[in-house]
Formats: sequence, structure tokens, C-alpha cells
Amino acid sequence: KIENATVKAELGRAAWRLFHTTMAKFPDKPTQDEQTALFSYIHLFARLYPCGECAGHFRHILNKYPPQVSTRSNAAAWACHVHNEVNKSLNKEVFDCSNIGDFYDCGCADEDDKKEK
Ligand code: FAD
Repeated sequence: KIENATVKAELGRAAWRLFHTTMAKFPDKPTQDEQTALFSYIHLFARLYPCGECAGHFRHILNKYPPQVSTRSNAAAWACHVHNEVNKSLNKEVFDCSNIGDFYDCGCADEDDKKEK
């Protein structure tokens, strides 16, 4: 099959958006079970990512920089860092991770809001 770079890039943008938004919604103080879940999720994401060549590269990055799942801010900073590793390998601009805080919004009401309704 011939590579379609446009489709591959579109998949990448969608995947990164989901990835970073997942970190932005991860608990500030996760339980052990929540930490294990995120750790597994990241490894399975790297294993099952549909672009096989990309997945292979990303697994190397994961080996070098194991997922940080102890708090939301550690997870978000870690995800920003590994995305930057991919950016570097593709000669893209490096993202300023100090701006990650409010950048990824799920658009969903949070749990507290739901309970009030
Ligand atoms: P993207 O890199 O898709 O980023 C989307 C948006 O996220 C940016 O516009 C910016 O607003 C924001 N952003 C940028 N950097 C960061 C950061 N560090 N932290 C948080 N937000 C950020 N493509 C290949 O050709 N070869 C590969 O080997 C490859 N491996 C990949 C591995 C994974 C796990 C994923 C998810 C994607 C991979 N891709 C790969 C796709 C590639 O990373 C890009 O998604 C794609 O090239 C589109 O790039 P883009 O410039 O639109 O921005």
C-alpha cells in the first residue's frame, strides 16, 4: 500500500489530541489502580497505534522515558515531553510544555458539575 502522508498526519493530530486530553483529565491524586490503568493505556497505545512505523518509534521513546503517572501534572508534562521527542525526530518545532496546563480541554462538564444537576 502506498503511504498517504496527509492521512497519516491527520491520524497523528487526532491521536495526540486524545492523548494530551486524557492526561489533562487524569486525577491530581490518582489511586494506585488509576496509575496502573494509565500506565497500561500508554503502553497499549504504543503497541496498537495504527501506523506501525510510528508505533515502533514511539516504543523506543517509551523505553527511554517511562510513563510518569503519579499525578496529573506529571503525566501531562511527561506526555508533552515525549510528543516533543517525536517532534524533534520529524524536524518539527518543540512545544513549550509550560503552556500545557489549560491547552487541552475535553469540553465536557466535570464530575462535580454533573452531581449538581
Ligand atoms: P502534531 O505533532 O500532530 O501536534 C498537533 C498539535 O499538538 C500541534 O499543532 C500543537 O498545537 C500541539 N503540540 C505540538 N507539540 C506538542 C507537545 N509536545 N505537547 C503537547 N501538544 C503539542 N509521523 C511520522 O511521520 N512518523 C512517525 O514516526 C510518527 N510517529 C508518531 C507517533 C505517535 C505516538 C503519534 C501519536 C504520532 C506520530 N506521528 C508520526 C504523527 C506526527 O507526530 C504528527 O501528528 C503529524 O505529523 C501531524 O503533525 P502536526 O505538525 O500537525 O502536529
